[in-house]
Amino acid sequence: MRYLIDHVRKSVHRTTFANDSCHFHTTPAEKREFSEDHTYIKKLIEEEGFEECPFCKINSVKPNIKDM
Ligand SMILES: [Zn+2]
Repeated sequence: MRYLIDHVRKSVHRTTFANDSCHFHTTPAEKREFSEDHTYIKKLIEEEGFEECPFCKINSVKPNIKDM
């Protein structure tokens, strides 16, 4: 799983499920980071106050969600 870290909004997206609802495109490119390091992601969430993006999360638990 590859993650997109938004350092402005302090949110973590799953690149596979990220969509327009995530609003990460409003974050400057230099404030975005890609990572596949689960330990790092966990640390950000537990120690740095980051949150998993609800939009990516919802999509990931509902694989049958309809396309637009
Ligand atoms: Zn997202």
